[in-house]
Amino acid sequence: MAEGIKHLKAVRRYGTRYGRRNRDKVALVEVDQKRSHKCPKCAYPNVKRISVGIWQCSKCNAKFTSRAYTVSKPPAIKSLE
Ligand SMILES: [Zn+2]
Repeated sequence: MAEGIKHLKAVRRYGTRYGRRNRDKVALVEVDQKRSHKCPKCAYPNVKRISVGIWQCSKCNAKFTSRAYTVSKPPAIKSLE
């Protein structure tokens, strides 16, 4: 592979379509989307994405909204229990 972003396995589903730059952008977003994020309530890195902007911690069960593809800013926690 040449310089630049190494193509990830998940983006290979697009084959040669949509252009390299677009596939690189999707790869960057998807890596952040699918990794475990730090929980703003219990600080355990166990937060997974449920849907667009909805995240849930599998340790303390806190469910909260944040950004669509990542939990970057610490959101205001409202307990849904
Ligand atoms: Zn938690």
